[in-house]
Amino acid sequence: MWKKNQDLPEEGGVRIPDHGRFGRNAAEPGEIHVESVKDKARHQIIFTAAVFILLFCIMTVSVCHYAIVNQRRFFDNEYNRRELLLEEHNRRGTIYSTGDYDLEPRVLAESDNDNVRTYPFGELFCHVVGFSVYGGSGLEDYMRYELMHSDISFGTRLEYDSRDELYPGNDVYTTLDPDLQKYAYEGLEGYRGAVLITEARTGKIRAMVSRPGFDPGDLDMLRTLLNQDESETANLLNRVTQGAYPPGSTFKILDAIELLREDPSADQTFSFDCVDGVYGEGEESIHCFDYEHHHEQNLGEAFAHSCNSAFAKIVAEDLDREEFRSTLRRMMFNQSLPYDLPSIDSSSQLLNEEDISDRELLQVAIGQGSTLVSPLHMNMITMAVANEGVLMRPYLVDRVVSGEGTTLQQKEPVREASLMDAETAGKVRELMRGVTNVLTDPETGENIWGTASEFNGTSSYMAYGKTGTAEFGTEDDSHAWFTGFTVEDQDRENGPADLCITVLIEDGGVGSDKAVPVAKNILDRWYREYSQ
Ligand SMILES: [Zn+2]
Repeated sequence: MWKKNQDLPEEGGVRIPDHGRFGRNAAEPGEIHVESVKDKARHQIIFTAAVFILLFCIMTVSVCHYAIVNQRRFFDNEYNRRELLLEEHNRRGTIYSTGDYDLEPRVLAESDNDNVRTYPFGELFCHVVGFSVYGGSGLEDYMRYELMHSDISFGTRLEYDSRDELYPGNDVYTTLDPDLQKYAYEGLEGYRGAVLITEARTGKIRAMVSRPGFDPGDLDMLRTLLNQDESETANLLNRVTQGAYPPGSTFKILDAIELLREDPSADQTFSFDCVDGVYGEGEESIHCFDYEHHHEQNLGEAFAHSCNSAFAKIVAEDLDREEFRSTLRRMMFNQSLPYDLPSIDSSSQLLNEEDISDRELLQVAIGQGSTLVSPLHMNMITMAVANEGVLMRPYLVDRVVSGEGTTLQQKEPVREASLMDAETAGKVRELMRGVTNVLTDPETGENIWGTASEFNGTSSYMAYGKTGTAEFGTEDDSHAWFTGFTVEDQDRENGPADLCITVLIEDGGVGSDKAVPVAKNILDRWYREYSQ
């Protein structure tokens, strides 16, 4: 040993000076040398091991963190069979309606101990609640992670075990109101269309109806519909979030927002003489509905009458095209909407075409051409007008509660974005008041009949809105729109907005003839029942 170690080379940085470091007595130079080399090697091993352990720990923590953060995404992966395993142990949670306004939450979807799902309201909530089978849809799909997991305590699990019952999955309480949903559903009787009712101040979705629908509990019917080629009735399509329609004259809300943004005094100074109900010449012209002559009008009158010529003039002559493009981006055109469930993007012709012709620009002004909007998007724009320019993010889930009553998630309203300043919103709101009421021209003393003036004089609430008739296909086909909001009666003109409603009737004809009565009927029934 000695000999061998004495032969060790002195170079190479391993030779340690013979002066008793490491606390040794340096009696034998060779011993010190060998021991120091051993120490050095030991330290290197310890160091390397420490590095590995540290890296291993970092890696483990990262993997765990990634798995926890993305657990919902892993769960949503259709190849993940965990859901099937969960079904053996857990009973899918219940979906409830809202408990706001002292309402008793009602069951919208529930499962028995064999995980057979039933929908007590049948077709009423079919698109928004959706179905749990065949890949799922609506809230059943969006909330399936929460519904399939059970967060009850160990002790409670034992109780369920003793009764040989499945553990109760977490329950989802929604913002949906069964009465408003019923009124909206019945309002669309006989039509293909969509109704969305939200709260402008919170973003709560109170009712979402698309017709025609389906019975989510009828598996045979579902299978048939899922295997069907695209049909005109498209029963499975949620027209509120995934239907895209030309906005027609509801687009004048956007024209007005931009005009008032560029010229805040336009509500006082703008005037237009709709001489013969036509703007422009020949091929490049646009006409008012039924070639009506609206005569001399200020902005409020032109908006109340929905004068196409006036708004064609505004967009063609008064607005800065680039500024308008930037406002339309701010209004969420050509981008995904701030909504948690699947929704279709709206499309603006002005944003799609860099070099837009004069004729096409006139089409843009009145919401024709290739501009397409979903009822959800139109409702969001209306919500922002109603809420001093601020869009609250629309949402459906109020809270998630465990099977033993512990609140696991509580959703609070989220301020999504400011779509316009409060002053502009206030002026557009005033324009929308003129549509749903009969105002008096202060100069002439004449009555101004808005296109939705059948709302005039409603008791219990005051309506604001805009109608739209969106032509498509041949001359006679058109979709009917109404989008607006209400203020409770005691607050009238200056009060905060209450409900925000958007109605779309496919191939329904004129907005003021078809969509307005549907909206009014729903709101009348609601306020008759619930106003103080
Ligand atoms: Zn006109």
